[in-house]
This record gives sequence, structure tokens and C-alpha cells, in this order.
Amino acid sequence: MLTCEEMLGLLSDYVDGQLSPELCEAIERHMAECHNCYVVVDSLRKTIVLYRQLEPPEMPKEVETRLFRVLNLEDFLES
Ligand SMILES: [Zn+2]
Repeated sequence: MLTCEEMLGLLSDYVDGQLSPELCEAIERHMAECHNCYVVVDSLRKTIVLYRQLEPPEMPKEVETRLFRVLNLEDFLES
């Protein structure tokens, strides 16, 4: 079984999908047994997913205005 250190060293390749199936399996097995690493990988994965989803399309001005109004953030709108 991987140590936590080995596991963390492989993480960036893991989330990039660059690892061999054997290593992925080793990582998944480690996560099943090690809550700390599970949490690290889980939050890393969520961050990456969010980051990919949030790559923001340019927001049309009127949508932004409406959104800010709904959120009561009109003060933050540039006039
Ligand atoms: Zn661990």
C-alpha cells in the first residue's frame, strides 16, 4: 500500500488522468483506508471541477445588472 507521502506525490498526475490503471487503483485503495488523503483528493477534485465550470463566459451587461439587483449589490455596479 502507498504511504500518504507517495500518494500525495502522485496526486497531480492522478487528477490529470495521467496515471497507469495500477497506480490509480493503488491511490483509490489508499483513499478507501485513509480518510485524510480521501479528503485531500476530494477537495482537490471539487476545486478542479469548479475551476473548469467557472471559466466564465463574458456576462452580458444587462444580466450582470439584473443579477446584482437581485442580490442587492447595486452599490457594487460600476455606473
Ligand atoms: Zn493517506
